[in-house]
Amino acid sequence: MNTTQTIRDEILKLKKEHDVCILAHAYQSQDIWEVADYVGDSYGLSLQAAKTGQQTVLLCGVRFMAETVKILSPEKKVLLSHPQAGCPMAQQISVAELAALKETYPDYTVAAYINTTSELKTLCDVCVTSSSAVKIIQNIENDHILFIPDCNLGGWIARQVPEKIIRPVAGGCPAHAAMHADQVRQMKSLFPEAKLLVHPECKAEVTELADYVGSTTGIMEYAKNSSAKSFIIGTENSIVEHLQFACPDKRFYPLSKDCICSNMKLTTLMDVWHCLHGTGGEEITLSEQVMKQARRCIDTMLTLG
Ligand code: SF4
Repeated sequence: MNTTQTIRDEILKLKKEHDVCILAHAYQSQDIWEVADYVGDSYGLSLQAAKTGQQTVLLCGVRFMAETVKILSPEKKVLLSHPQAGCPMAQQISVAELAALKETYPDYTVAAYINTTSELKTLCDVCVTSSSAVKIIQNIENDHILFIPDCNLGGWIARQVPEKIIRPVAGGCPAHAAMHADQVRQMKSLFPEAKLLVHPECKAEVTELADYVGSTTGIMEYAKNSSAKSFIIGTENSIVEHLQFACPDKRFYPLSKDCICSNMKLTTLMDVWHCLHGTGGEEITLSEQVMKQARRCIDTMLTLG
């Protein structure tokens, strides 16, 4: 009978034989982390995608991430681990709606969270990730910024960069936006010593109560380097498990037991196995025109970030 160990060993052998680089988002499960060549947040994955030497990249995450890899490395074969894994936020605004907004606000620079489709990126001036957003927005010359599609992240950036006029467009991550201040108070009463670390996709009522607000990578680094011994984590619950693996001498508690991204959780170790056998996943294809136009705003992100 196959076990996690036998499947894992076969994946490690196959990826070497077929010269495949496995990139995994931090919200993937621990077993997928353990077969990946690189694990990180959206910004880290983008940087890694641009410099990896392998000709095939298998992205364990959601569709916009695989599209970003394809745009940065058009000559490579890019596979998405599970064809149905998409980010609902990436499609909360349509191309037509964004075109109309640009007409309404012609003097604004359009900044897009990287969690957007490649078609939307063709209309944007620059992308940001949660770890690079503040620096990039500060570095944009224009003082007027239209920010899509996460109004919570946009609002948080606006509070960090008060010298700019930032107009966030309504939208957000269903998992992060569902957490609220009452949960913070409840968890703080249970674990009064614990530090609260949250993602900027959370509502302002949550980020305002936090000891640290940052990307998944930032949250993990903060927890590892802190002298505190317990933490309440306000982001996707995989991070609670990964931190517990990384720091067995500390304790980590989810702010909400419901902060689970069902799309990120679609990919299993067997999906990775099938991709390497050629019996699963989806090869990402994009038109030349979309790749060329969308690349401008990703390149601007890499330059300004
Ligand atoms: S956690 Fe939220 S923003 Fe991230 S992929 Fe899932 S739905 Fe999208």
